[in-house]
Amino acid sequence: MERRTRIDIHVHSEFSTDSQAKMDDVVRTAIDKGIQVLCFTDHIDWDYPVEDLAFDFDVSVYQKNIEAMRSRYGERIRILMGVELGMQEHLAGRYRRLLADYPFDFAIGSQHLVGGMDPYYPETFAGKTDAEVYRQYFEDLLADVKAFHDFDSLGHLDYVVRYGRTRAREYSYRKYADLIDEVLKLLIRYNKALEINTCGLRKQLGFPNPHPDILRRYRQMGGTLVTIGSDAHRPELLGDRFDQAVGLLRQCGFSHYCYYVKHEPVFVMI
Ligand SMILES: [Zn+2]
Ligand SMILES: [Zn+2]
Repeated sequence: MERRTRIDIHVHSEFSTDSQAKMDDVVRTAIDKGIQVLCFTDHIDWDYPVEDLAFDFDVSVYQKNIEAMRSRYGERIRILMGVELGMQEHLAGRYRRLLADYPFDFAIGSQHLVGGMDPYYPETFAGKTDAEVYRQYFEDLLADVKAFHDFDSLGHLDYVVRYGRTRAREYSYRKYADLIDEVLKLLIRYNKALEINTCGLRKQLGFPNPHPDILRRYRQMGGTLVTIGSDAHRPELLGDRFDQAVGLLRQCGFSHYCYYVKHEPVFVMI
């Protein structure tokens, strides 16, 4: 059990199609900000539905780059190799093989799609209420976690509410508790962590993803594994609102959070 380790284990670099951050800049900024454990989790979203937008990269090149960062900065910061996998039911087998083929420390499983579309694009909501899209999102998430749970932590569980027309004004855990509880049950059964993603705090939702009611519910159901990530796509956002996230975890009844090395949790006391 470690004490007071500052971590950021949801971080993007230019290996992600939606980031231009150089790994070197990310690591140097992380050191400057006092982050002690940094995990790159670049996007692999196979069969992403938007044409000409492939979230994919060559993992052997990625690995070499991370090793170079370790030899340059390894005495000042712990650098881990992770990945953020965009879940879809039919990709379960391919993702399992990917995780077996490369020495990842950490994998985040993320639901980026609803009905085969990314809610980031407003068309996803065309002709539907936010509540309909949100419900479908949690249905898809449940189906995907049933099919694939080889990740270590479930990313931004209620990602969809960042993008609805009404955002979170009419959103509550309670409205979707039937589906969310099933997801949490699976995480606990398979010993998977729940991520607290501070991006929601930046997007004026006023809460991280997932909503604290979901963190509280996971804890109440017996869940103990939580990871913390900023989802920074630019170095200046590294470690963003980390202290606030830790405070929230404490309020939700957690006594520690964790990071992963070779898919094994390392615990940090709150
Ligand atoms: Zn994501
Ligand atoms: Zn991300």
